[in-house]
Amino acid sequence: MKRETIALFGAGLMGAPIVERLLDAGYKVVVWNRSPEKLEPLVEKGALRAESPAQAVRSAEVLITWLTDQRAIQEVLFPAERASLLAGKTILQMATIGPSHSRGLEDAAIAHGAEYLEAPVLGSIPEAKSGKLLLMVGATEPQFARFTPLLSVFGENIVHVGEVGKGAAMKLAFNQLIAGLTASFSLSLGLIQKEGVRVEQFMDMLRDSALYAPTFDKKLVRMLERDYSNPNFPTRHLLKDTELFLDAADEHGLTASALEGVRDVVSIALAKGLGDADYSAINDVISPVKE
Ligand code: NAP
Repeated sequence: MKRETIALFGAGLMGAPIVERLLDAGYKVVVWNRSPEKLEPLVEKGALRAESPAQAVRSAEVLITWLTDQRAIQEVLFPAERASLLAGKTILQMATIGPSHSRGLEDAAIAHGAEYLEAPVLGSIPEAKSGKLLLMVGATEPQFARFTPLLSVFGENIVHVGEVGKGAAMKLAFNQLIAGLTASFSLSLGLIQKEGVRVEQFMDMLRDSALYAPTFDKKLVRMLERDYSNPNFPTRHLLKDTELFLDAADEHGLTASALEGVRDVVSIALAKGLGDADYSAINDVISPVKE
C-alpha cells in the first residue's frame, strides 16, 4: 500500500532505522542528513535523498526530526530565509530535548503557520529496527488521534502523556534513571571487584533483591570486559540528557546534586575520549583500571 510522503531530518543511529521502518510500512520517505554519506544505504533501500533541508521541507506535509538537540532543529528547520516554507506543515519531533525547548519549538512552529507535536522514545537501535519503541507523546487529543497510525510504525506502546512538553519531561525522567542507575551499578561493581568478592555471587544476590534493575545485567558484560564498542546510545548523548535534566531541575527547584556528581563523571568520560563509546564507559571513570 502506498502511503503519504514523510520527510525525515537526521539519519543518525536512530533516524536511519526509522527510515527503513517507514519504507517497509509503505511510506514514501525523503531524507536529509548534514553528512550526506549516511544517506547512501537508505537510498539503496528506496528512500529519496534531499539535497537541502528546504527541498525536504517542500517534499512532505509531515516533517520528522531525529536531530541531536534543539539547537540542531532550530538551525535546520527555522532559519529566517525559509520561514515561509513551514506554513501548513506538521513537525513531529522525536529526539530527546528539554520540555521548555520543546514548548519553544512549538511556539516557533505556530508562528511559522505550522503544527508541532513531540514523540520522544524509550528504546534504542534494536527496538527502532523491530518497531518496539515506547513512545511518549506530547500533543493535543486530535493530533494524538491523527498521528497514532504513523507512530504505530515505530512501536505499539504509544502513550499520550499530555500537551507538548509533557512527553519530553517523561523522556528526561527516564534518562535521568539511565544515568543514575548506571553510575550507581558501576560503583557497587567496582567495590565488589576491588575487594575480590565474586561477581557472580554479588549478581545472584542482587537479582533476588528489590534493588535489582534489568539494566544492570544489560551492562554487566561490557563493564567486566571494558568493551564499550558498537554503542546504541553513546556517552555524549548521556551527557546531553543529564544536562537537560539538570536545567529542568533548576527550573523547578529540585535538588539534583546527586545527578550533578553523575554529570561530572560523564564529563570526565568525554574528556577521556569516550564520547562515542557506549555510555557504560563511565565505568572506566568510576572504577578505573589500576595503572
Ligand atoms: P546520532 O547518531 O548522533 O545522530 C544525530 C543526528 O543529528 C545526525 O543525523 C547528525 O548529523 C544530526 N545533527 C547533529 N547536529 C546537527 C546540526 N547542527 N545540523 C544538522 N544536523 C545535525 O544520534 P542518535 O542516537 O540518532 O540520536 C538522535 C536523538 O535521538 C538524540 O536526541 C538522542 O538523545 C535521541 N535518542 C537516541 C537514542 C539512542 O539509543 N541512540 C534513543 C532514544 C533517543 P551528522 O550525521 O551530520 O552528524
